[in-house]
Amino acid sequence: MKALQFPGSREVFIKEFPDPKPGKDEVVIRMKASGICGSDLNYLYRIPKEEKDKYVLGVWVSSTVIPGHEPCGIVEEVGENVTHLKKGDRVIVYHISGCGVCKSCREGYYMHCKNKKTYGFDINGSFADFMVAKEKDCVLLPDELSFEEGCYYACGAGTAFKACKRLNISGLDTVSIFGLGPVGLAAVMFAKKFGGKVIAVDPIDVRRDIAKNIGADYVINPLEEDVVREIKKITDGEGTSVSIECSSNPTARSQILDSTKIWGKVAYVGEGKTVTIDVSNQIIHKHLTIFGSWVYTIPELMDLLNFAAKEKLNLPALITHQFTLDEAEEALKLADSGKSGKIVFKWD
Ligand SMILES: [Zn+2]
Ligand SMILES: [Zn+2]
Repeated sequence: MKALQFPGSREVFIKEFPDPKPGKDEVVIRMKASGICGSDLNYLYRIPKEEKDKYVLGVWVSSTVIPGHEPCGIVEEVGENVTHLKKGDRVIVYHISGCGVCKSCREGYYMHCKNKKTYGFDINGSFADFMVAKEKDCVLLPDELSFEEGCYYACGAGTAFKACKRLNISGLDTVSIFGLGPVGLAAVMFAKKFGGKVIAVDPIDVRRDIAKNIGADYVINPLEEDVVREIKKITDGEGTSVSIECSSNPTARSQILDSTKIWGKVAYVGEGKTVTIDVSNQIIHKHLTIFGSWVYTIPELMDLLNFAAKEKLNLPALITHQFTLDEAEEALKLADSGKSGKIVFKWD
Protein backbone atom coordinates (compact mmCIF):
# COMPACT_ATOMS: atom_id res chain seq x y z
CA MET A 1 0.00 0.00 0.00
CA LYS A 2 0.92 3.65 -0.37
CA ALA A 3 1.27 5.95 2.65
CA LEU A 4 2.55 9.43 3.43
CA GLN A 5 5.62 10.28 5.48
CA PHE A 6 6.33 13.63 7.15
CA PRO A 7 10.08 13.68 7.90
CA GLY A 8 9.79 17.31 9.12
CA SER A 9 10.73 20.76 7.79
CA ARG A 10 7.64 20.84 5.52
CA GLU A 11 8.65 17.77 3.49
CA VAL A 12 6.21 15.08 2.45
CA PHE A 13 6.70 11.95 0.37
CA ILE A 14 4.93 8.70 -0.47
CA LYS A 15 6.37 5.39 0.69
CA GLU A 16 5.34 1.82 -0.09
CA PHE A 17 4.44 -0.34 2.93
CA PRO A 18 3.27 -3.96 3.06
CA ASP A 19 -0.54 -4.24 3.28
CA PRO A 20 -1.34 -4.50 7.02
CA LYS A 21 -2.96 -7.56 8.62
CA PRO A 22 -5.35 -7.32 11.60
CA GLY A 23 -4.16 -8.69 14.94
CA LYS A 24 -6.38 -9.86 17.79
CA ASP A 25 -9.24 -7.35 18.49
CA GLU A 26 -8.24 -5.38 15.40
CA VAL A 27 -9.67 -4.55 12.00
CA VAL A 28 -8.05 -3.38 8.77
CA ILE A 29 -9.80 -0.38 7.22
CA ARG A 30 -9.72 0.49 3.53
CA MET A 31 -9.39 4.28 3.68
CA LYS A 32 -12.02 6.37 1.90
CA ALA A 33 -11.37 9.84 3.39
CA SER A 34 -8.86 11.29 5.83
CA GLY A 35 -8.75 14.93 6.92
CA ILE A 36 -5.72 17.17 7.39
CA CYS A 37 -5.82 18.58 10.92
CA GLY A 38 -3.98 21.52 12.51
CA SER A 39 -2.04 19.08 14.71
CA ASP A 40 -0.66 17.34 11.60
CA LEU A 41 0.75 20.70 10.54
CA ASN A 42 1.95 21.87 13.98
CA TYR A 43 3.46 18.65 15.30
CA LEU A 44 4.45 16.66 12.23
CA TYR A 45 4.74 18.70 9.02
CA ARG A 46 6.13 22.11 10.02
CA ILE A 47 8.43 20.95 12.81
CA PRO A 48 12.15 21.05 11.85
CA LYS A 49 13.72 17.66 11.08
CA GLU A 50 16.16 17.93 14.00
CA GLU A 51 13.26 18.37 16.46
CA LYS A 52 11.45 15.19 15.44
CA ASP A 53 11.35 11.81 17.22
CA LYS A 54 10.76 13.28 20.67
CA TYR A 55 7.81 14.43 22.81
CA VAL A 56 6.41 17.92 22.14
CA LEU A 57 3.62 19.04 24.53
CA GLY A 58 3.17 15.39 25.49
CA VAL A 59 2.79 14.27 21.87
CA TRP A 60 5.23 11.82 20.27
CA VAL A 61 6.44 13.57 17.12
CA SER A 62 7.60 10.78 14.84
CA SER A 63 9.37 11.06 11.50
CA THR A 64 8.51 7.51 10.43
CA VAL A 65 5.02 6.65 11.77
CA ILE A 66 2.30 7.01 9.11
CA PRO A 67 0.50 10.30 9.92
CA GLY A 68 -3.26 10.99 9.75
CA HIS A 69 -5.72 10.87 12.65
CA GLU A 70 -9.07 11.60 11.00
CA PRO A 71 -9.72 8.16 9.48
CA CYS A 72 -12.93 7.17 7.74
CA GLY A 73 -13.35 4.11 5.56
CA ILE A 74 -14.67 0.58 5.10
CA VAL A 75 -13.75 -2.49 7.13
CA GLU A 76 -11.68 -4.69 4.84
CA GLU A 77 -10.70 -7.52 7.17
CA VAL A 78 -11.42 -8.44 10.79
CA GLY A 79 -9.02 -10.12 13.19
CA GLU A 80 -9.52 -12.74 15.86
CA ASN A 81 -12.05 -11.85 18.63
CA VAL A 82 -13.73 -9.08 16.61
CA THR A 83 -17.46 -9.41 17.23
CA HIS A 84 -19.17 -6.08 16.49
CA LEU A 85 -17.68 -5.19 13.12
CA LYS A 86 -17.72 -7.07 9.82
CA LYS A 87 -16.21 -6.63 6.37
CA GLY A 88 -18.00 -3.80 4.52
CA ASP A 89 -18.98 -1.74 7.57
CA ARG A 90 -18.50 2.03 7.16
CA VAL A 91 -16.50 3.30 10.13
CA ILE A 92 -14.74 6.26 11.72
CA VAL A 93 -11.73 5.63 13.93
CA TYR A 94 -11.60 7.63 17.17
CA HIS A 95 -7.96 8.68 17.04
CA ILE A 96 -6.93 8.19 20.68
CA SER A 97 -6.66 4.56 21.74
CA GLY A 98 -6.82 4.15 25.51
CA CYS A 99 -5.89 1.00 27.42
CA GLY A 100 -9.61 0.53 28.15
CA VAL A 101 -9.22 -0.52 31.79
CA CYS A 102 -7.79 2.48 33.73
CA LYS A 103 -10.14 4.93 35.48
CA SER A 104 -9.86 7.58 32.75
CA CYS A 105 -10.64 5.04 30.02
CA ARG A 106 -13.61 3.70 31.96
CA GLU A 107 -14.91 7.26 32.23
CA GLY A 108 -14.57 7.50 28.45
CA TYR A 109 -11.65 9.92 28.56
CA TYR A 110 -9.06 7.99 26.54
CA MET A 111 -7.05 11.22 26.15
CA HIS A 112 -6.18 11.09 29.87
CA CYS A 113 -5.04 7.44 29.78
CA LYS A 114 -1.38 7.11 30.83
CA ASN A 115 -0.90 4.26 28.35
CA LYS A 116 -2.78 5.76 25.40
CA LYS A 117 -1.58 5.55 21.82
CA THR A 118 -2.66 8.09 19.22
CA TYR A 119 -3.20 7.00 15.61
CA GLY A 120 -1.00 9.06 13.32
CA PHE A 121 1.44 9.91 16.12
CA ASP A 122 2.52 6.84 18.16
CA ILE A 123 0.95 4.27 15.86
CA ASN A 124 0.28 4.25 12.11
CA GLY A 125 -2.57 6.47 10.98
CA SER A 126 -4.80 7.20 8.04
CA PHE A 127 -2.76 8.91 5.33
CA ALA A 128 -2.50 5.46 3.78
CA ASP A 129 -4.54 3.11 1.59
CA PHE A 130 -5.16 0.88 4.63
CA MET A 131 -4.82 1.18 8.39
CA VAL A 132 -5.14 -1.12 11.37
CA ALA A 133 -7.38 -0.05 14.28
CA LYS A 134 -8.68 -1.64 17.46
CA GLU A 135 -12.33 -2.64 17.11
CA LYS A 136 -13.11 -0.69 20.31
CA ASP A 137 -11.83 2.56 18.69
CA CYS A 138 -14.19 2.28 15.69
CA VAL A 139 -17.63 3.88 15.46
CA LEU A 140 -20.14 3.12 12.70
CA LEU A 141 -20.72 5.95 10.22
CA PRO A 142 -24.46 6.56 9.64
CA ASP A 143 -25.61 6.00 6.02
CA GLU A 144 -26.71 9.64 5.78
CA LEU A 145 -23.14 10.90 6.15
CA SER A 146 -20.38 10.85 3.54
CA PHE A 147 -16.85 9.60 4.22
CA GLU A 148 -15.56 13.20 3.93
CA GLU A 149 -17.97 14.33 6.64
CA GLY A 150 -17.03 11.30 8.74
CA CYS A 151 -13.32 12.12 8.71
CA TYR A 152 -13.99 15.76 9.63
CA TYR A 153 -16.13 14.71 12.63
CA ALA A 154 -13.31 12.33 13.66
CA CYS A 155 -11.21 15.15 15.14
CA GLY A 156 -11.73 18.78 14.03
CA ALA A 157 -15.52 19.05 13.98
CA GLY A 158 -15.90 16.77 17.02
CA THR A 159 -13.61 19.05 19.01
CA ALA A 160 -15.71 22.08 18.02
CA PHE A 161 -18.92 20.23 18.97
CA LYS A 162 -17.61 19.39 22.44
CA ALA A 163 -16.68 23.03 23.19
CA CYS A 164 -20.04 24.34 21.92
CA LYS A 165 -21.92 21.71 23.96
CA ARG A 166 -20.02 22.55 27.15
CA LEU A 167 -20.84 26.25 26.62
CA ASN A 168 -24.59 25.48 26.46
CA ILE A 169 -25.03 27.87 23.54
CA SER A 170 -28.63 28.96 22.96
CA GLY A 171 -30.65 31.67 21.23
CA LEU A 172 -29.87 33.95 24.16
CA ASP A 173 -26.15 34.00 23.34
CA THR A 174 -23.87 36.14 21.27
CA VAL A 175 -20.86 33.99 20.45
CA SER A 176 -17.43 35.12 19.29
CA ILE A 177 -15.21 32.59 17.54
CA PHE A 178 -11.55 33.55 17.11
CA GLY A 179 -9.63 31.58 14.47
CA LEU A 180 -11.51 30.12 11.50
CA GLY A 181 -9.48 27.04 10.64
CA PRO A 182 -11.42 23.75 10.34
CA VAL A 183 -12.17 23.68 14.10
CA GLY A 184 -13.27 27.33 14.28
CA LEU A 185 -15.42 26.99 11.15
CA ALA A 186 -17.15 23.91 12.58
CA ALA A 187 -17.71 25.91 15.80
CA VAL A 188 -19.44 28.61 13.72
CA MET A 189 -21.73 25.93 12.26
CA PHE A 190 -22.62 24.43 15.66
CA ALA A 191 -23.04 27.82 17.40
CA LYS A 192 -25.51 28.85 14.68
CA LYS A 193 -27.30 25.50 14.86
CA PHE A 194 -27.71 25.90 18.63
CA GLY A 195 -29.26 29.35 18.09
CA GLY A 196 -26.42 31.75 18.89
CA LYS A 197 -25.63 35.00 17.11
CA VAL A 198 -22.09 34.50 15.79
CA ILE A 199 -19.19 36.92 15.39
CA ALA A 200 -16.33 35.20 13.52
CA VAL A 201 -12.78 36.59 13.65
CA ASP A 202 -9.86 35.71 11.34
CA PRO A 203 -7.27 37.63 9.30
CA ILE A 204 -7.59 35.32 6.24
CA ASP A 205 -10.22 36.48 3.71
CA VAL A 206 -11.15 33.00 2.42
CA ARG A 207 -11.90 31.77 5.93
CA ARG A 208 -14.14 34.74 6.77
CA ASP A 209 -16.01 34.19 3.49
CA ILE A 210 -16.65 30.53 4.36
CA ALA A 211 -17.85 31.57 7.84
CA LYS A 212 -20.26 34.05 6.26
CA ASN A 213 -21.52 31.39 3.84
CA ILE A 214 -22.50 29.05 6.66
CA GLY A 215 -24.28 31.77 8.58
CA ALA A 216 -21.87 33.84 10.71
CA ASP A 217 -23.79 37.03 11.50
CA TYR A 218 -20.69 39.22 11.59
CA VAL A 219 -17.09 38.71 10.47
CA ILE A 220 -14.11 40.76 11.65
CA ASN A 221 -10.61 41.03 10.13
CA PRO A 222 -8.32 41.63 13.13
CA LEU A 223 -5.64 43.13 10.85
CA GLU A 224 -7.96 45.90 9.76
CA GLU A 225 -10.26 46.47 12.70
CA ASP A 226 -10.00 46.86 16.49
CA VAL A 227 -11.55 43.49 17.38
CA VAL A 228 -12.54 44.35 20.96
CA ARG A 229 -14.13 47.65 19.94
CA GLU A 230 -16.02 46.04 17.04
CA ILE A 231 -17.38 43.22 19.22
CA LYS A 232 -18.45 45.75 21.89
CA LYS A 233 -20.18 47.79 19.17
CA ILE A 234 -22.11 44.74 17.91
CA THR A 235 -23.14 43.75 21.46
CA ASP A 236 -24.35 47.18 22.68
CA GLY A 237 -21.14 47.76 24.63
CA GLU A 238 -21.43 44.57 26.69
CA GLY A 239 -19.29 41.97 24.91
CA THR A 240 -20.21 38.41 23.97
CA SER A 241 -21.81 36.04 26.48
CA VAL A 242 -19.84 33.09 25.09
CA SER A 243 -16.45 33.00 23.34
CA ILE A 244 -14.39 30.26 21.70
CA GLU A 245 -10.66 30.67 21.02
CA CYS A 246 -9.45 28.43 18.20
CA SER A 247 -6.47 30.39 16.86
CA SER A 248 -3.88 30.00 19.68
CA ASN A 249 -2.63 33.46 18.64
CA PRO A 250 -1.43 35.28 21.83
CA THR A 251 -3.16 38.55 20.89
CA ALA A 252 -6.43 36.74 20.16
CA ARG A 253 -6.17 34.79 23.44
CA SER A 254 -6.04 38.09 25.33
CA GLN A 255 -8.58 39.98 23.19
CA ILE A 256 -11.15 37.24 23.65
CA LEU A 257 -11.17 37.93 27.40
CA ASP A 258 -11.59 41.68 26.82
CA SER A 259 -14.44 41.17 24.36
CA THR A 260 -16.40 38.75 26.58
CA LYS A 261 -19.02 40.33 28.83
CA ILE A 262 -19.16 40.29 32.64
CA TRP A 263 -20.20 36.77 33.80
CA GLY A 264 -19.38 35.47 30.30
CA LYS A 265 -17.84 32.10 29.43
CA VAL A 266 -14.66 31.48 27.44
CA ALA A 267 -13.43 28.17 25.99
CA TYR A 268 -9.81 27.81 24.90
CA VAL A 269 -9.48 25.23 22.12
CA GLY A 270 -6.58 26.31 19.85
CA GLU A 271 -3.29 24.68 20.93
CA GLY A 272 0.33 25.80 21.23
CA LYS A 273 2.11 29.06 22.14
CA THR A 274 1.73 31.01 25.42
CA VAL A 275 0.04 34.23 26.54
CA THR A 276 0.35 36.85 29.29
CA ILE A 277 -2.92 37.71 31.01
CA ASP A 278 -3.80 40.39 33.58
CA VAL A 279 -5.79 38.03 35.81
CA SER A 280 -7.41 40.69 38.01
CA ASN A 281 -8.60 43.01 35.26
CA GLN A 282 -9.29 40.49 32.52
CA ILE A 283 -10.79 37.62 34.53
CA ILE A 284 -11.50 38.12 38.26
CA HIS A 285 -13.19 41.51 38.12
CA LYS A 286 -15.36 40.34 35.24
CA HIS A 287 -16.42 37.09 36.91
CA LEU A 288 -15.47 35.15 33.79
CA THR A 289 -15.77 31.38 33.59
CA ILE A 290 -12.86 30.00 31.56
CA PHE A 291 -12.09 26.43 30.59
CA GLY A 292 -9.92 24.44 28.25
CA SER A 293 -11.61 21.95 25.92
CA TRP A 294 -9.60 19.09 24.40
CA VAL A 295 -11.16 16.74 21.83
CA TYR A 296 -14.17 14.65 23.01
CA THR A 297 -15.16 11.10 23.94
CA ILE A 298 -16.44 8.16 21.87
CA PRO A 299 -20.00 8.41 23.32
CA GLU A 300 -19.98 12.09 22.33
CA LEU A 301 -18.86 11.14 18.81
CA MET A 302 -21.80 8.72 18.61
CA ASP A 303 -24.21 11.46 19.76
CA LEU A 304 -22.68 13.88 17.29
CA LEU A 305 -22.99 11.49 14.32
CA ASN A 306 -26.61 10.82 15.22
CA PHE A 307 -27.30 14.53 15.50
CA ALA A 308 -25.49 15.27 12.21
CA ALA A 309 -27.39 12.52 10.37
CA LYS A 310 -30.79 13.73 11.61
CA GLU A 311 -30.21 17.47 11.35
CA LYS A 312 -28.44 17.43 7.97
CA LEU A 313 -25.72 19.81 9.14
CA ASN A 314 -24.03 21.75 6.39
CA LEU A 315 -20.54 20.40 7.14
CA PRO A 316 -19.86 19.72 3.41
CA ALA A 317 -19.87 23.50 2.85
CA LEU A 318 -16.75 23.70 5.01
CA ILE A 319 -14.85 21.03 3.04
CA THR A 320 -13.29 23.13 0.29
CA HIS A 321 -10.63 20.80 -1.13
CA GLN A 322 -10.18 17.09 -1.84
CA PHE A 323 -6.88 15.55 -2.92
CA THR A 324 -5.45 12.10 -3.59
CA LEU A 325 -2.36 10.92 -1.70
CA ASP A 326 -0.33 11.53 -4.88
CA GLU A 327 -1.23 15.20 -4.59
CA ALA A 328 0.00 15.41 -0.99
CA GLU A 329 2.59 18.10 -1.61
CA GLU A 330 -0.02 20.48 -3.01
CA ALA A 331 -2.54 19.55 -0.29
CA LEU A 332 -0.07 20.19 2.54
CA LYS A 333 1.14 23.48 1.02
CA LEU A 334 -2.44 24.71 0.83
CA ALA A 335 -3.23 23.57 4.38
CA ASP A 336 -0.04 25.27 5.60
CA SER A 337 -1.11 28.56 3.97
CA GLY A 338 -4.43 28.53 5.84
CA LYS A 339 -6.18 29.77 2.72
CA SER A 340 -8.89 27.10 2.66
CA GLY A 341 -11.61 25.41 4.62
CA LYS A 342 -11.23 21.74 5.51
CA ILE A 343 -8.89 19.75 3.27
CA VAL A 344 -9.33 15.97 2.98
CA PHE A 345 -7.56 13.14 1.20
CA LYS A 346 -10.01 11.04 -0.82
CA TRP A 347 -9.85 7.46 -2.18
CA ASP A 348 -12.13 6.08 -4.93
ZN1 LIG B 1 -6.67 16.60 15.05
ZN1 LIG C 1 -6.49 3.73 30.06
